[in-house]
Amino acid sequence: MENQKNEFVHYRTCNLCEAMCGVEITVKENKIHSIRGDKQDPFSQGHICPKAVALQDLYYDKDRVKHPLRRNGTTWQRISWDEAFDEVVQGIKKIQAKHGKSAVGVYTGNPIVHNYGSMLFGPMFFKSLHSRNHFAATSVDQLAHHFVGYFLYGHQLLLPVPDLKRTEFLIILGANPAVSNGSLMTAPDVAGHLKQIRKRGGKVILIDPRRTETSDLSDKHLFIRPGTDVFLLLAILQVIFAENLVRLGHLSQFTDKVDVINKLVKDFTPEKVESITGISATEIYNLARDFATAKTAVCYGRMGVSTQEFGAVCQWLINVINIVTGNLDREGGALFTLPAFDPVTAPDAIAPKGSFGRWHSRVRKLPEFAGELPVAAMAEEILTPGDKQIKALVTCAGNPVLSTPNGQQLDKALASLDFMVSIDFYINETTRHANIILPPTSSLEHDNYDLAFHLLAIHNTTKYSQALFNGDPDSRHDWEIFLELLTRMESDGVVSQLTSTIKHKVLKALGPAGLLDLGLRFGPYGAGLNPFSDKLSLSKLRSLPHGIDISALKPCLPERLQSKSKRIDLAPQPLVKDLERVKERFLSSTTNSNQLLLIGRRHLRSNNSWLHNSLRLVKGRSLCTLMINPVDAAKRQISNGQKVLVASRVGKVHITVEITDEIMPGVVSIPHGWGHNRDNVSLEVAKQHAGVSVNDLTDELAIDALIGTAAFNGVMVEVQAVADEITPQENMPLAKAVNG
Ligand code: SF4
Repeated sequence: MENQKNEFVHYRTCNLCEAMCGVEITVKENKIHSIRGDKQDPFSQGHICPKAVALQDLYYDKDRVKHPLRRNGTTWQRISWDEAFDEVVQGIKKIQAKHGKSAVGVYTGNPIVHNYGSMLFGPMFFKSLHSRNHFAATSVDQLAHHFVGYFLYGHQLLLPVPDLKRTEFLIILGANPAVSNGSLMTAPDVAGHLKQIRKRGGKVILIDPRRTETSDLSDKHLFIRPGTDVFLLLAILQVIFAENLVRLGHLSQFTDKVDVINKLVKDFTPEKVESITGISATEIYNLARDFATAKTAVCYGRMGVSTQEFGAVCQWLINVINIVTGNLDREGGALFTLPAFDPVTAPDAIAPKGSFGRWHSRVRKLPEFAGELPVAAMAEEILTPGDKQIKALVTCAGNPVLSTPNGQQLDKALASLDFMVSIDFYINETTRHANIILPPTSSLEHDNYDLAFHLLAIHNTTKYSQALFNGDPDSRHDWEIFLELLTRMESDGVVSQLTSTIKHKVLKALGPAGLLDLGLRFGPYGAGLNPFSDKLSLSKLRSLPHGIDISALKPCLPERLQSKSKRIDLAPQPLVKDLERVKERFLSSTTNSNQLLLIGRRHLRSNNSWLHNSLRLVKGRSLCTLMINPVDAAKRQISNGQKVLVASRVGKVHITVEITDEIMPGVVSIPHGWGHNRDNVSLEVAKQHAGVSVNDLTDELAIDALIGTAAFNGVMVEVQAVADEITPQENMPLAKAVNG
């Protein structure tokens, strides 16, 4: 801890998004004086975005919960940790004794992967529940990538990363990396990288229903109708095969079923898909030819393609395009990382390899992947009576009421639970339903190591961040909360009490830092047990606060493949089968000029719902608007800045309109993570800048049927002008679905 001195500089990695920017925090008199980019960080080299300063806002936030709370109706009472742990474990055990193990569900949010203590200790506690009802933000985000990684490369975490530093041709689908700084492509200063690609004579092509901030950094932007990327990708492959542009290079030695792909894509000619996608056949031919003949090229797709009706097939086809053009495992193409702590080769208990369909959700029969069920099914599992109904829920670092489809339904479901516990330091739209809140320390109060994002980074580096401040003496880190819950869950009977006490002592002594040290020592650059080695260990990392530059990404196949055969099966059965669904949609596809399809969007100053209580990030013009094309606005006699009613099958919201030709005709956009207008939420700043929740419109029944990911992109909505001023109350969630 460095807070003994009056003035000092602290170096760490910002953990507010995936980009892993190094920050330099100057502290004077125990107060943060400034936060700047760390120029000596070998990975981010001084880059930060405006969100970095919010690190201090989270730390100083007066709404942050610092002690365990028990809810009595709509008020909260401070209780001791011991009471809280007792009540939580008793509550869970009571429900499980009466209704079975799976009557206790779990939801884990995205921030868990930004905290290595949670990542290492959370799964031990979740496992101790023996419940099959584990849901996570994965199924409203990157599940399609894990699914494809598992079936193509043998491990859900083997995800190829675009080699931004060397590529000559980059296709970006459904992503806005200029704002996100990359997702599943950890890349601080993406804007700088895109500029460099063009400076060295390369090309950047953006394909998106919205002309986003990334289009300003691209050579070309093509509008695409939401949810139709699958047809574009099939047509690109059709051209590559038909024009004999397939060049696998060294991949041909360990890649099977290339001929199967040829047959599967045959019918999807550019001419046939142009009216569905909105992209002309000429453009599709050019895309395929330019990509396949570029010196190096990489195709990358993110939220816009991952969270739609055919998300898994889209991510599969993106990989296939990279493979059949020889751009996988090639400098300038898509490469695998080799991080210092390598989750891919870590024990299954830390990073499971993956699994699919070992069990299904009770009500809708949606499949498990890697031990988790799709969160689109969570509310119905709580609300539908019967054997194995969820009666209690543990949430951790998540706000699914705002971030999962049909948030109103989930809100209602959470209110009906017999018991709920939230490991979270905010009373937000979700945790307000908890009976007990167990608040962990904030990120500046604990050390951190990016277990997940080094694995997804465009360059191999490694860095450990020490805690900046001591937490309150009565505070607990996430991992300590998980460990205590685990121990108490496992302490039934004399024998298990003894073993769990020993386990507790060993794990407490190790802590996440001890496990990290082991991972580093026995990782690819590690010192092993040799105390005199100058290779990697935690103590070496501690002595280098800016981190270590390891190497550029390198080709590593077939050695790094985790499939038993050490080969790539290019046409895995579940994905090939799902093409039948794609074909059905292809044949039944119609376009209705009156129909509006809803998509999300991301802003530089916002990240999901996490940062809306930071005044410096939310002040100024509201970011939560409905973007609509001038043609669609004129048809509905809507003027700029006017309030409109947006309605879907599941709900409606009133929102201010932003008329812009940034968005293609037939498409409207609302950013996600807003809607802080519910009762009993203790987020004062966020409430003043409430916005509306796009997930009061998204539909839990609209999913990628193969894997259950929510299909956020392309939700059918109606938009109409409303005459009167809307009061905040009118934006309250509706219990009743509208519009049939
Ligand atoms: S881009 Fe992400 S990691 Fe970098 S400063 Fe911004 S929020 Fe932090």
